[in-house]
Amino acid sequence: MNADTTSPPSNFIKTIIAEDLKSNKHNGRVATRFPPEPNGYLHIGHAKSICLNFGIAAENKDGTCCLRFDDTNPSKEEVEYMEAIKHDVRWLGFDWADRLHHASDYFEQLYQYAAELIKNGKAYVCSLSPEETREYRGTLQESGKDSPYRNRSVEENLDLFERMRKGEFEEGAHVLRAKIDMASPNMNMRDPAIYRIKHVEHNRTGDIWCIYPMYDFAHCLSDSIEGITHSICTLEFEDHRPLYDWILDQLDVDCHPQQIEFARLNLSYTIMSKRKLQVLVENDHVEGWDDPRMSTLAGMRRRGYTPDSIRNFCERIGVAKRDSMVDIALLEYSIREDLNEKAPRHMGVLRPLRVVIDNYPENQAEDLEAPFHPNNPDMGSHKIPFSRILYIEKDDFMEDPPKKFFRLAPGREVRLRYAYFITCRQVVKDEKTGEVIEVHCTYDPLTRGGDSPDGRKVKATLHWVSAAHAVTAEVRLYDRQFNKESPEEGEGSSTFTDFLNPDSLETLTDCKIEPGLAGADPGYRFQFERLGYFCMDSIDSAAGRPVINRTVTLRDSWAKIAKKRK
Ligand code: ATP
Ligand code: MG
Repeated sequence: MNADTTSPPSNFIKTIIAEDLKSNKHNGRVATRFPPEPNGYLHIGHAKSICLNFGIAAENKDGTCCLRFDDTNPSKEEVEYMEAIKHDVRWLGFDWADRLHHASDYFEQLYQYAAELIKNGKAYVCSLSPEETREYRGTLQESGKDSPYRNRSVEENLDLFERMRKGEFEEGAHVLRAKIDMASPNMNMRDPAIYRIKHVEHNRTGDIWCIYPMYDFAHCLSDSIEGITHSICTLEFEDHRPLYDWILDQLDVDCHPQQIEFARLNLSYTIMSKRKLQVLVENDHVEGWDDPRMSTLAGMRRRGYTPDSIRNFCERIGVAKRDSMVDIALLEYSIREDLNEKAPRHMGVLRPLRVVIDNYPENQAEDLEAPFHPNNPDMGSHKIPFSRILYIEKDDFMEDPPKKFFRLAPGREVRLRYAYFITCRQVVKDEKTGEVIEVHCTYDPLTRGGDSPDGRKVKATLHWVSAAHAVTAEVRLYDRQFNKESPEEGEGSSTFTDFLNPDSLETLTDCKIEPGLAGADPGYRFQFERLGYFCMDSIDSAAGRPVINRTVTLRDSWAKIAKKRK
């Protein structure tokens, strides 16, 4: 994979569509859909599908893409999820315009289609118990057996199906099955269930229905009803394609979309399943669906990811036919690249060490000019106050430095960024612990702004804040959520939760930030000089008590990986 691809690569799906347009296969139309089941929040894998489907529509003249909630399973679906999904799709920058649909909009139509199958002798009501059904189904090696109910008459089937709808039966008493082939090597074709009884209220249709269509039946028909031309889905549906086509072939439909499968996104050190993400939420492994460690779009947004960075990432990973694992470093590369360009720079100290400038007058302060961006003057500049007592990063001082440590140490001169050169003169230690608690320095007034008039060189430039002016903030440092590359695979008797990284969150409560940043809006994204990219937390940050999330460090591990691969 090439991190600095400039022209967006095409992919096999776009090639298929271009050919279909040429041959006028769908009357020159391109219509796609993004069909989430509203049973959780969207994750970065969904972003790949969203970018692909909406992207294809946008690239083609008069192309359309709709958002369809696949809400056929009322026991797992919630309105909260629907709202969150809509928000996330919009946030990514896509618009379904007036094409917001629900599979439940078609329940009556789907019922009529099912009745049509029965009338054509292509579906029957089966009354085997779930256990019996499993037995009759056979295995990959052995073909299945016909259900004893397979040859019920059309009249009996229609009557039973209608009574299923009326609620005369308990759950599991009957199902409606497609009549295909119990000996098919494809298990999906062994008379799959297409309707089941569920005495559960639906968040949109209330108690009107107590039978609900199965995914395979509802999906192809919803696609057809909406006039979808290319029904793009992930590889696990490849074996369902014969069923998709079979159902549409049996029925008198105007539109028979083409199902095309692509490889789902797998991202290292992350999980990519709503069901598993829900386990993390429900068992309090995280604060919620929008916990900044989560691979959900809500979590990534709260962490500080931009929509552009996610779209660029999806473009870079491409669309393939074979499953693979994408290195999370590539995702981090994408956000760094975007924020490097856009994020204003600020000063903040995460682990403060007091520095007293002995020759700087007490009760004096001055404003120093700091550009918001080192190579974009259009972003302007801001003022940061300087005074006698400052904070620098604890890590930036060593009393007894090893050879390659060039930062502050006794007797050594360094630059404070946009301020002055300072020289360390004396160290104050805690009497009991021996820990350095304060460093005394002198400054050279002639180096104002950070330049020496005599061309004197220093080997380090440190970030700093003025103690009297700084605002105390909480900063949350995030690391990868799992410490196994593919946590979903498990290992022996271990499941994904066993691989949670116990150090995925470090909370620092005594950070000192420049005063100009304290009132920034929730969600404001910026760089702390020398530390990384951060954003104001959109939930917990409050006036006077800023809470800041680290989005990503400055270190670019992807560049190193890419170099090694070359
Ligand atoms: P999950 O297991 O997370 O619920 P799903 O496939 O069941 O995933 P849906 O809500 O049915 O979730 O997905 C909506 C669309 O997003 C589908 O077309 C699906 O193929 C696609 N999708 C889901 N996960 C990924 C992924 N990891 N990479 C690419 N596309 C995905
Ligand atoms: Mg699902």
